[in-house]
Amino acid sequence: DRKEPVNLNELADEYLRLSYHGLRAKDKSFNANIQKEFDKSIGNINIIPQDIGRVIMNLLTNAFYAVNEKKQQSGEKYQPTVTIRTKKKDNLVVLSVTDNGNGIPEKVVEKIFQPFFTTKPTGQGTGLGLSLSYDIIKAHGGRIIVSPHEKTGTTFVVELPLNQLPA
Ligand code: ADP
Ligand code: MG
Repeated sequence: DRKEPVNLNELADEYLRLSYHGLRAKDKSFNANIQKEFDKSIGNINIIPQDIGRVIMNLLTNAFYAVNEKKQQSGEKYQPTVTIRTKKKDNLVVLSVTDNGNGIPEKVVEKIFQPFFTTKPTGQGTGLGLSLSYDIIKAHGGRIIVSPHEKTGTTFVVELPLNQLPA
């Protein structure tokens, strides 16, 4: 077992920087409001940091893509915003990523966790981000769910068990 005690807030912060700067490096004109709402009472949780980091990065990359796309369609009035939250809830640690992009149409949402499913143009998406994320979260004994609000954006929620049994 490669799990180790990790502070999820610090991990989220690190991968937030990675994904935002990665995007900015490719597209200098890209920017978005980033809101961080971290529950400081979250202690360390037992996770594989590289794997959970990859999940966080996938969710953020999708969120930034979504707000960027909406920005191209909208005028200057649109404020691209991505919010990342952590909180404790019963025996769970909950991490969520919310964007105010175009949301996910109902016909699409049922397919998003399938490997190779993508709505992005060739070269822009592999369609593997969410299926990989699903597997990683499952391997951690957690779950990942999406609550799309068509038109106002999307929220992905990751739940991880707080009190894991020793491996
Ligand atoms: P990729 O990003 O390579 O397309 P993913 O597995 O990460 O693959 O996502 C699959 C699909 O889910 C995306 O192509 C897109 O249609 C949809 N999707 C995921 N996240 C969002 C989001 N935040 N807003 C709108 N659509 C999304
Ligand atoms: Mg993706």
